[in-house]
Amino acid sequence: MKWEQRWHPLRSEWVIIAAHRQNRPWQGETVASQRTTPEFDANCFFCPGNLRVSGARNDAYRGIYVFDNDHPCVGPNAPPELSSPTGIYRNSPADGLSRVVCYSPKHNLTLAELELPEIEALLHSWRAQYAELGARPEVHHVLVFENKGEVVGVSNPHPHCQIYATNFVFKTIENEVRISRQHLEETGRVLFQDILQAERQDTRRIIFENASAIAFLPYFARYAYECYVAPKATHEGLSTLGPDEMRDLAQALKAMLVKYDNLWSTPFPYVMTLHHAPTDGADHRGFHFHMEFHPPLRTPNLLKYLAGPEIGGGNFLSDTWPEDKAAELRSLADVHYKTRSGQKP
Ligand SMILES: [Zn+2]
Ligand SMILES: [Zn+2]
Repeated sequence: MKWEQRWHPLRSEWVIIAAHRQNRPWQGETVASQRTTPEFDANCFFCPGNLRVSGARNDAYRGIYVFDNDHPCVGPNAPPELSSPTGIYRNSPADGLSRVVCYSPKHNLTLAELELPEIEALLHSWRAQYAELGARPEVHHVLVFENKGEVVGVSNPHPHCQIYATNFVFKTIENEVRISRQHLEETGRVLFQDILQAERQDTRRIIFENASAIAFLPYFARYAYECYVAPKATHEGLSTLGPDEMRDLAQALKAMLVKYDNLWSTPFPYVMTLHHAPTDGADHRGFHFHMEFHPPLRTPNLLKYLAGPEIGGGNFLSDTWPEDKAAELRSLADVHYKTRSGQKP
């Protein structure tokens, strides 16, 4: 039996790892099986030339396509006059901007299947969005994220991500900023650099590495296949990466995602988040830009449920050993299974 607590330095909290729990018989929910998807879907709101819910028509785009979200959670049209709550409660207009970024006109592709130059172009698009939206005075943070797969609630497979540019800083980032800042003040070092150093010292959990970028399954992973992808040098966001760093990051991202898809020869579901420094004008030295992947599945048919410890207590209980899961990912092919099996032209 393997059983221990690991400290999550970026969240400043414990993760309990109890790997023996994996063997319990499972009688819960299973994941829907994968269907074949066409390259173009006339009913898809994101496919080129199609009509969206708002009545706007998509361009006949050929590369990356960015547009304002038709159902924004935050937006310029958020009701400005709000009723005042009682006592200590407070509210504020859900001001900001919300956008959708389609990675490709092809409905049936995933980020993992895009060619390297296309992934690099996407990184440049994210960088431009971060710069443009972050420069607006009312925007204090730009959250770029992708929800992928039906198990995370996405029914439309068209490859896309979303951007929420908000007048507040999302909690996880706020915590990382504070914790990283504190670490810098106490030690003179960047916290994420210390994490990278520990990972490179151990080496077992590194999934991919090139000259300036790295992908790894961290020591403190809360989800079975949780992975981080980051430039090795400290940057507050994509804005300051040089051309070589952008290319290297695209390569690390692709390498990691191909392994995800190869794991069960299926488009691998995940929640991807870009952790950019806030754009609130404050000093964010000590913050290191990175991308986090939180896949909800432990096995093809087994979801990680958030229950008592996670929802009720606020700390994660992991059923899998990070070194085992990293070894699994490392052992997989570097070529996407669809390319190998000739499913792709
Ligand atoms: Zn589509
Ligand atoms: Zn983070």
